[in-house]
Amino acid sequence: MRLPAFDYIEPKTLKEAAKRLASNKGAVLLAGGTDLLVNMKHRVIMPKQIIHLKALPKLQYITSGKEGLKIGALTTLHEIATSPMLKERWNIIAQAAQEVGAYAHQSMGTLGGNLCQENRCRFFNQSPFWRGVRPPCLKAGGKVCYVVPKGNKCYSTYCGDMAPALIALGAQIKIEGMEGERSLPLKKLYTHNGKKPLALKKGEILKEVFVPPASGKALYLKWRVRESLEFPIVSLALYVEKDQKDQIKKARIVFSGVGSGPVEATLAERIWKAGPLNEQTIEKVAEQAVKEISPMRTSIHSPAYKRKMAGILLKEALKQIYS
Ligand SMILES: Cc1cc2nc3c(=O)[nH]c(=O)nc-3n(C[C@H](O)[C@H](O)[C@H](O)COP(=O)(O)OP(=O)(O)OC[C@H]3O[C@@H](n4cnc5c(N)ncnc54)[C@H](O)[C@@H]3O)c2cc1C
Repeated sequence: MRLPAFDYIEPKTLKEAAKRLASNKGAVLLAGGTDLLVNMKHRVIMPKQIIHLKALPKLQYITSGKEGLKIGALTTLHEIATSPMLKERWNIIAQAAQEVGAYAHQSMGTLGGNLCQENRCRFFNQSPFWRGVRPPCLKAGGKVCYVVPKGNKCYSTYCGDMAPALIALGAQIKIEGMEGERSLPLKKLYTHNGKKPLALKKGEILKEVFVPPASGKALYLKWRVRESLEFPIVSLALYVEKDQKDQIKKARIVFSGVGSGPVEATLAERIWKAGPLNEQTIEKVAEQAVKEISPMRTSIHSPAYKRKMAGILLKEALKQIYS
């Protein structure tokens, strides 16, 4: 499949990129291109102008200090997956990067592109020929959602691997825009609205991910059809931190693949925190967590199957994190 025609620019600075993005309605950012170019080939995104970020210096780094960890938005997933420092101190981040697609996606794909990837749906991620048999869906600019035809909302699903791991660690992001720089918790980047999944304002660019020091245990598990080249059917990140009295101080459960953004199961976290950790509590945590996710028929897997696998995966993860 060929790409549609577009203008191409390589800005010299982040400010210039933000200005170009803000001033041109048909412009989009390109990082590794492993998500965007596929969507362009499918003609579900038809930008007039592409602003390639890869030429920008200084956005490709992994640094850590007492204050925490910083990763530049243009750092590749391969660099993250193979970083000895991450493997030693923030293994869940390296683990999640290793789970993305296949080697080609990891070597081209960036952290920023992964966090900002488009939501997915079986009615959206299709060729023009496939989609041509019916009017466009809400996400593709039409008026109807074929997943919930009576609704007026887009239910496309967030399927990224990096966001749950980083949200579980309490990550913050830095964004550059026309009005300067702002920071926000990564979980607030996601609107949970399938039509416009990201809370980025016009001209805003994700610049850096910051992770505060984490002394607890963390784990990322992913359920998918094949061992590689697959988005999650459902995946989850766990983080648990205890105080000196061995009481749970922080407990986080964050899913991907089961909602229009990464989903934190906050009520299940409370049950986990209240403990004690035994078979009964694990059952209760899983029972509650599957009530907090809302998988839709946006892939070949039914919502019932996704819920069931989410519960199984969570029970497995809770056992593994304490083993
Ligand atoms: C076959 C296949 C399998 C895949 N499997 C997985 C998988 O298992 N897990 C997974 O998470 N992903 C998967 N992907 C999606 C994609 O490869 C990854 O998410 C990748 O990390 C995207 O990064 P990128 O740099 O290539 O993004 P790009 O394609 O360059 O960009 C993606 C989106 O993010 C925006 N963007 C990029 N950088 C920024 C920034 N700094 N600030 C604001 N917006 C930005 C772009 O405008 C675009 O809309 C898969 C893709 C394919 C084709």
